[in-house]
Amino acid sequence: MAMTSDEKKARRKEYYQKNRDKILARVAKYRKEHKDELREKSLVRSRIYYSEHRDECNARSRKWQKDHGDETALRRSTYMKQWKENNADHVKEYMEKYRADNEESLRDWRKKYNCLNFDEISRRAKMYRENNPDKMTARNVNYRKNNYESEIDRIRKYHHEHPEKLRCHANKRRATKLGASGRGISDTDEAVLKDEYAHMCVYCGRKDVSLTVDHIVPLSRGGDHDIENATVCCKSCNSKKKNNSLLRFMYRKHVEETQNDR
Ligand SMILES: [Zn+2]
Repeated sequence: MAMTSDEKKARRKEYYQKNRDKILARVAKYRKEHKDELREKSLVRSRIYYSEHRDECNARSRKWQKDHGDETALRRSTYMKQWKENNADHVKEYMEKYRADNEESLRDWRKKYNCLNFDEISRRAKMYRENNPDKMTARNVNYRKNNYESEIDRIRKYHHEHPEKLRCHANKRRATKLGASGRGISDTDEAVLKDEYAHMCVYCGRKDVSLTVDHIVPLSRGGDHDIENATVCCKSCNSKKKNNSLLRFMYRKHVEETQNDR
């Protein structure tokens, strides 16, 4: 007499309970041996299911993402990071093409970004320079080596356009060489002095000449390289004063003028 379906089911269940380990081992072995094939089948099944239940799947996915915001973001960023690492060449190629195609808009964007974040960018750059002095030196040396001609031109042009900077630099070097103390005299200090003395040589009173910074007590006589010890005078007076004290210079000047008047 043939078995009913319930009887068949009961027998299968009984068989399974008796031989559970054996069956599970067989299944595991099969899965292992047919891993790729099974994965492919599963993917096909998923795709078919998705195509038939698209809206439902999307809604479920969106709900899950909404309920697990942080995890979604983390998963997404981890996936993207991994993907970029695995496709580094592709990413590089894509970025190069993107930059080339959008050169102008990227330049505008960068300009805007730099304007809006100027303080933060400056702060970060300063921090980087402070934390990596060796790298900065190496980079500068390398840059100058590779751009020697243009660097020389640039420096010449800069000095031509800013003679006051060059003068300040020369004065500073001289002061350092002579071991002078003081806070230094910047080009701004020089401008302040010129304004203070109405753009006039303090010794001869000429106005139509270019003015130089003069150390009232000469550096060679222990004077400070400091605005407190500085004034402005014409080149002629400056070279006549030289290393003389102020009193001696004034005395000689007076004698010279008296002789000329006779
Ligand atoms: Zn003068």
